[in-house]
Amino acid sequence: MVWLTQIVFYGLPWVDWGQRQAVLFDLGVRRFYIFGLVLYPQDLIYMTGLLVIAALSLFLFTAVAGRLWCGYACPQTVYTEIFLWVEKLVEGDRAARMRRDEMGLSTEKIWRKTAKHTLWLLISVWTGFTFVGYFAPIKDLATDIIGNNMSSWGYFWVLFYGFATYGNAGFMREQVCKHMCPYARFQSAMFDKDTLIVTYDAERGEPRGARSKKADPGKLNLGACVDCSLCVQVCPTGIDIRNGLQYECIGCGACADVCDTVMDKVGYARGLVKYSTENAMTNHWTAKQTLRHVFRPRIVVYTSILMGIVVAIFVSLAMRTPFKVNVVRDRGVMARVVEAGKIENVYRLQVMNATESDQHYKFTVNGLPNLVITSDVTFKVESTKAITVPVRVQAPFGAAEPGSHEIHFEIESLDSPGKLSEKSTFIIPK
Ligand code: SF4
Ligand code: SF4
Repeated sequence: MVWLTQIVFYGLPWVDWGQRQAVLFDLGVRRFYIFGLVLYPQDLIYMTGLLVIAALSLFLFTAVAGRLWCGYACPQTVYTEIFLWVEKLVEGDRAARMRRDEMGLSTEKIWRKTAKHTLWLLISVWTGFTFVGYFAPIKDLATDIIGNNMSSWGYFWVLFYGFATYGNAGFMREQVCKHMCPYARFQSAMFDKDTLIVTYDAERGEPRGARSKKADPGKLNLGACVDCSLCVQVCPTGIDIRNGLQYECIGCGACADVCDTVMDKVGYARGLVKYSTENAMTNHWTAKQTLRHVFRPRIVVYTSILMGIVVAIFVSLAMRTPFKVNVVRDRGVMARVVEAGKIENVYRLQVMNATESDQHYKFTVNGLPNLVITSDVTFKVESTKAITVPVRVQAPFGAAEPGSHEIHFEIESLDSPGKLSEKSTFIIPK
């Protein structure tokens, strides 16, 4: 998961789509580009849908297998894992690090510590740079940094996010999970007795105790746990899984992996620490029985709702008109009487082209007898751009009673299928 999430995170901003960055949340021009999709502020509904999908996915995955997000995909876990890997590479394993930390200053200690922090800082700054690259074109950002032309805000965000990575993954580590992240606190509300969680098989493991490899644990009245404490040493939050489920457990499975290697070495069956459910442990279910209970009604309901929303969003995206129009009555120009006694109202039409090619649009208006547009009725809008055009609308004298009347602008794309109707009002003065 570290490789997968980081290849996506670091790689995605460098992928091009036509003439532009494939994924770019351009806040400056208020447009989100996601491969072939161009989203405007008016498309907020899709962002809302995305958040609903994220929340429901969290409920679903947590109900199935506990804190999967925390253990495998949360940036805090992933960057801590990367920083630990660098630490091990430069300073050796835990025992070697502890030995060196207790020793006085030496050339070796200085160069190893310096190398570790340099690598951490490089990763952090690169992470900050990549993060900002999702909000400003990353290639321009790189050129600006090389030429020292980046704005002070650009530097601020790169360094801010870089510093947060360095501090959180290098020093804060499990303290973030234990004391800062609210998710640990409400996880228990999403668990039930059929949720898969990392569990220590106390029945099989206890009484724990060290023994020689050849010794028969039955004769020594010992369980399978050899009390090597490796499961505690590898735990990123420093807890002992043998004490049962604790809110600090992020479900990373590191203790299960290391315990399996211990079981292999001493020649016992694997799975002393494993993914299991409370019901499975109590009823001694087989793996097949456990899995059958994991897919329970609650999971089916979550999955159905999730699939329904995903399908609805995709259908809506496929059917959406690839342009947007906002009609605003021009408040600077009130309704007025012009030549031949006609009544004129002026509007401002903002047209947003959400396609990747230049488009021509045609306007018509209806709602009152003989209502006409007297200004230009066709406009060109460049790909992914927006323009605002003034539109004059006239009605003959006596077309309707004085007052406010509902009218509709019909906007049609001449280059691709799509038609929109926007409501407005036409004022006839007394
Ligand atoms: S790693 Fe396994 S054997 Fe070692 S202390 Fe933990 S549970 Fe016991
Ligand atoms: S107890 Fe095991 S699964 Fe939980 S956080 Fe520690 S190592 Fe990860």
